Amino acid sequence: MKKVYIETMGCQMNKSDAERMFGMLEYLGYTKTENPKEADMLIINTCSIRKLSEDKAYSQIGVWGKWRGKIKGKYNSYPKIVFAGCVAQQVGENIFRRAPYVDLVLGTQRLYELPDLVKRIEAGERVVSCGETPYEEKKIKINRVKGINAWIPIMEGCNNFCTYCIVPYTRGRERSRKPELIIGEAKKALAEGFKEITLLGQNVDSFGKDLEDGQNLAWLLRELNSLEGKFRIRFVTNYPTDITDELIDTVLELDKVCEYFHIPMQSGDDTVLKKMNRRYDYATYKKICDHLRSRVKDVTITSDFIAGFPGETEEQFENTLKAMTELELDYSNTAAYSPRERTVAAKWTDLYIPEDVKTERLARLNEHNRECCLKSNKKYVGREMEVLVENFEVRKNGDKVITGRTRNNKIVHIPCERDLTGEFINVKITRARTWYLNGEII
Ligand code: SF4
Repeated sequence: MKKVYIETMGCQMNKSDAERMFGMLEYLGYTKTENPKEADMLIINTCSIRKLSEDKAYSQIGVWGKWRGKIKGKYNSYPKIVFAGCVAQQVGENIFRRAPYVDLVLGTQRLYELPDLVKRIEAGERVVSCGETPYEEKKIKINRVKGINAWIPIMEGCNNFCTYCIVPYTRGRERSRKPELIIGEAKKALAEGFKEITLLGQNVDSFGKDLEDGQNLAWLLRELNSLEGKFRIRFVTNYPTDITDELIDTVLELDKVCEYFHIPMQSGDDTVLKKMNRRYDYATYKKICDHLRSRVKDVTITSDFIAGFPGETEEQFENTLKAMTELELDYSNTAAYSPRERTVAAKWTDLYIPEDVKTERLARLNEHNRECCLKSNKKYVGREMEVLVENFEVRKNGDKVITGRTRNNKIVHIPCERDLTGEFINVKITRARTWYLNGEII
């Protein structure tokens, strides 16, 4: 048996791609290994959202190149090294100049070509496949990471071209996956014992725009909700102004669809939002949050923010802090601005914010995030909530604890003698911490 090791960086979409790669490689006789040193094939599934992750990918293949070693000045043929994912899509064959030991460069839109390409590299070829025409999707086995939640992409790509974002260049234009493939994957995941399905997409609201009339996200949620058994359904990510009343009605109507929306805001300042090419201002985003909170009881709203976008003044940054507090956001992912080649904002070098200012702003953003999170968690103390248990651990001090999530995506730690992973239990929330809740089984 040949062994393959895959290192995945970045978002859930990449993790889902890795599960698909494992599935396809199984057909070619590969088994998964967690030990890269014993692998016949090493795959790095890269992320290009920030420079730091791109640099990490280069440094990792540098290490693998050394392992491969040379004989008489030529690199050995094994282990095969595959450079995949968003950075691969971006750099294509240029990677060979930096890393001549790479065998295959596999772009995000050519994932399903992997079996054919692996046969070619096994025969000694060096191959680049980074075309922008997506390779036709095939029905494949998916070798999922064990757990409770199954990630299922429903669409890929983005048409929005926010000025800081590399995604439209690496993942291409928006396209929906075929509903029968999505529903088939959901059925299979549920049959394998997964208790939660999370529908993935850069903009899940765009699902269906290129399909038959009536096939949109709300329709898909109805189809999935009608599958048998007790399980939960989530979806990420929503573009703020694309959330429709039909979608909100569907969340309210369907018992398996959870009360959770991830809606990146990016900045709380109108001038910065305009420069980011986001299609809303602060007032519009607030209206969306207010509307959601007025209609969906206990809804959790999470967001993303960037500190130090080119030209951002101190006052504009403070508007972001104010927005976080005023909107009572439950949690936010935060990052310092990182210029990405090919994007519009990367060209505004004269407006770049010094690194130390970005770092300081990010620290303040994180402090605000902590406060918002704790405030949000405190709302649930004393409440009874349903928790889906995700794991069981025996801590160093001997305490036995299960951890799970509420429908609205709050993490809860609960003392428990038994492993109840995969079960739905009712819990009373006893204490709020910054990032999680404590509870007890009732
Ligand atoms: S909406 Fe903007 S930030 Fe999100 S993936 Fe598309 S271009 Fe990137």
